[in-house]
Amino acid sequence: MAGGLLAARNAEGYLDVTPELRVAGFENVYALGDISAIDVNKAGVAGREAAVVAKNIQAQIEGSADLAAYTPSKPVIILPLGPSGGSGQLPDGEIASPELISQIKGQHMMIDRYVEMLNLGA
Ligand SMILES: Cc1cc2nc3c(=O)[nH]c(=O)nc-3n(C[C@H](O)[C@H](O)[C@H](O)COP(=O)(O)OP(=O)(O)OC[C@H]3O[C@@H](n4cnc5c(N)ncnc54)[C@H](O)[C@@H]3O)c2cc1C
Repeated sequence: MAGGLLAARNAEGYLDVTPELRVAGFENVYALGDISAIDVNKAGVAGREAAVVAKNIQAQIEGSADLAAYTPSKPVIILPLGPSGGSGQLPDGEIASPELISQIKGQHMMIDRYVEMLNLGA
């Protein structure tokens, strides 16, 4: 990050962004994922932010000023320990059981989701 972008960099090193994920002070520059100051450092966050950024870039290309806003996520962590153990906190604050953590992540590490997302086939 250099030049004008430096002005958007906050004390923690993240880039300040608008709710539409545009870098503060820029119309056509977006920031998402770990570099963006709007939400915690999580792959899931980066994915949800990417969907908003893609939609907004498409809207700008089409000349629309109707941009979507990103809604920050609630604190959540899914921490598997082996295929059947683990712990975590769900978005409502509830502590998840090892069985639920195993179902969500431990048995497959969400591989299917990424195979589909990256169009890798079976
Ligand atoms: C050990 C570990 C465990 C994690 N576990 C989880 C988890 O369970 N769940 C979860 O949601 N998140 C988890 N995360 C966080 C998750 O990995 C990040 O939030 C996510 O990868 C951020 O995606 P990103 O695209 O913003 O950045 P990155 O994935 O870091 O991608 C940035 C890319 O930019 C490249 N790059 C850097 N500088 C340059 C340059 N000058 N020019 C060109 N390319 C450059 C880098 O090489 C990298 O490939 C974990 C992170 C770590 C380290």
